[in-house]
Order: sequence, then C-alpha cells, then structure tokens
Amino acid sequence: TFKAVWITREEGAKVQNPAEIREIGLDDLMEGDVTVRVGQTTVNYKDGLAVTGKGPVVRRFPMIPGIDLVGEVTECSSNAYSRGDKVLLNGFGVGETHMGAYAGYARVKSDWLIPLPKGLSGHQAMAIGTAGYTAMLCVLALEDHGVTPDKGPVLVTGAAGGVGSVAVAVLAKLGYEIVASTGRAEEGDYLKGLGAAEIIDRAELSGPPKPLNRERWAGAIDVAGSNTLANALSMTQYGGTVAACGLAQGMDLPSSVAPFILRGVTLAGIDSVMAPVARRIQAYDRLVRDLDMAKLDAMTTTIGFDDIIPHASAILEGKVRGRLVVEMG
Ligand code: NAP
Repeated sequence: TFKAVWITREEGAKVQNPAEIREIGLDDLMEGDVTVRVGQTTVNYKDGLAVTGKGPVVRRFPMIPGIDLVGEVTECSSNAYSRGDKVLLNGFGVGETHMGAYAGYARVKSDWLIPLPKGLSGHQAMAIGTAGYTAMLCVLALEDHGVTPDKGPVLVTGAAGGVGSVAVAVLAKLGYEIVASTGRAEEGDYLKGLGAAEIIDRAELSGPPKPLNRERWAGAIDVAGSNTLANALSMTQYGGTVAACGLAQGMDLPSSVAPFILRGVTLAGIDSVMAPVARRIQAYDRLVRDLDMAKLDAMTTTIGFDDIIPHASAILEGKVRGRLVVEMG
C-alpha cells in the first residue's frame, strides 16, 4: 500500500469533503496502460482549487488530485514505455477526471506522458510544472505574434506567483524589458533578481478598465483575468499581443473591442491541459534553453507529501512565492 491524498463527495452533495490522506493500493487506481512510481509532484493554483474544493476542478469522485508528476515506469502493458523509463506528465485531466499525482503510484495513459526532457532532473521538471510550462506557452504565443524585445516592454501579472516567476525569468533571458505587476511589494527584490526592470502595484490594473488607455507595453502575460486582463489590453501598444492563461482575479473579462479594432491588439488564449504533445516538447526544449536553472532554483521551495494539503490553501491565499516541489520520498 501507499499514501494518497483522497477526495470524496457524498451522493447528491454540492461540496466535496475535506481532503484526507489514505493508505490505498494499486487496485484503487483507474485504468491506464502505464503505472508510474511518483518521484516528484508540485502544487499549482489549480491543485489548490482541487484539494480545497474552492473551484470546480475535481469532476469525478473519489479523486486523487495532482495535475503534474515525474516518475519512473514500473509497468507498461503497451509498447510505449519500458520499466525504469523516467516520464513527465502535465495535465490531460489527471487530478481532475483521472486519478492524479498525489499518491505513491499513478496509473495513466501513455499518450499523456512525455519522456523526462533531457537536461532536466525530476526536481527541476516539477519546479517548472504546469505553471512554468504554461509560462513558456505564453512566451511562444507572444513570439508567434511578433512580439520581440525591440518592440517594447512586456507586462507580467501575478509576477510573484508560479506562472509569473517563470515568465519573468524566461523573458529576461530572452532580452525583454519586463514590467512585473505584483500585490506583494515586499517581493520587489525577488522579482528584480529574476530580471524584472520595473515593478508595479497590481492595484494599478485591478480597478474598472477604460476601453483604451496610454500605450505601455508591446505584450503581456496575464494570469489574473477580469479587470486586470481588460486593463492590460487597454494599455497594449498598437499591434501588440496579450497571452491570457489565468483567472486569479476572476473568470470575467469586462473589456471592449476597442483594443482589437483600433489598435490591432491580439488576445492569445493559452491552454496547457490539452495542448498537443508536439507543442509540449517544443515548450520544454525552449525551457531547457531559455530558463536559467539558478533562477528556477531561487524561485522554488521543496516540501514533503504531508505538506500538500496545507499548501493547497496557502497558494489560493496568494501566500506562495514562485514554485513548490513535492518530494515524495
Ligand atoms: P500562483 O502561483 O498562485 O500565482 C497566481 C498569482 O496571481 C499570485 O501569486 C498573485 O501574484 C496573483 N494574484 C492572486 N490573486 C490576484 C487578484 N485578485 N488579482 C490579481 N492578481 C492576483 O498560481 P499559478 O499556478 O502561477 O497559476 C496562475 C493562474 O494561471 C491561475 O489562475 C491558474 O489557474 C492559471 N493557469 C492556467 C493554465 C492554463 O492552462 N490556462 C495553466 C497554469 C495556470 P502577486 O502576489 O505577485 O500579485
């Protein structure tokens, strides 16, 4: 048997029971052609929503949450992988509809796995996690739309969080001038250390937006949604692009078409969960190249399995800086 974070919900109930830690066996896992011994996992914002039930992430009960894992294949009934292979999984509904990473073992579909990228340890891959890989998907979207360092600054919102910290570090290495928006003034030195040129208070962006405002950046990576995303759009330069990946402020988007039809601004939507494998591999190739591993280390805190549940609440309260890695031990 092995330990798992276990989430249940009573028949007909609207809210899930508080997450608990249980001893379970391989028979408690779901169908899949690959069994993986989990080495490391992480706690993303979405994991916080899943573990606490504060967002409708878990859509099957019982559930083991955890959307990211690195581990070693112990069994594979298809030819996809061999025993001992090191593999990486981000998303694909794991921890939402299929039992996830917060357990000693996971049984999943081989189509959801990629080999652990060369150049990354398991710890580094989980320090990146869905948050960091999503940050790179956002950077790729800005590049695809022609946002280059010479065009002007790039705004990163939620800069002291997971997506934000990795986005700042990668953009800095690529030579962009970064405007980092944060609600935590005390993290100014941390963000400058990652490569931010200017720190702004997120309150500047969280109020009711105007349709258009002074042009301030050529691009933006937004984790907040709601007013913050609307303000980011209204301050984007002519021809610029905003990559939207999150909802830390809210799901709504109280904007207008003005930035699109008067300034030719592009709003690029970013999804990591169902992103095709080829795009994932491209993102990891670029992370290996363009993410300074010393900066990754500086933004990462390592915790143990028993720390997952308390950190799930902490991340939703905005108390986690950068990224968390869970060493399964
Ligand atoms: P995280 O580490 O908790 O970072 C979120 C950051 O957002 C916080 O640290 C905080 O940064 C900022 N924030 C919190 N509340 C806010 C508010 N009310 N208004 C404005 N900013 C606020 O979470 P994460 O794992 O990086 O995820 C960030 C967001 O991206 C989440 O919404 C997550 O669901 C989403 N996401 C989406 C995808 C996808 O596939 N589309 C993938 C990964 C993540 P400061 O303290 O610096 O202000």
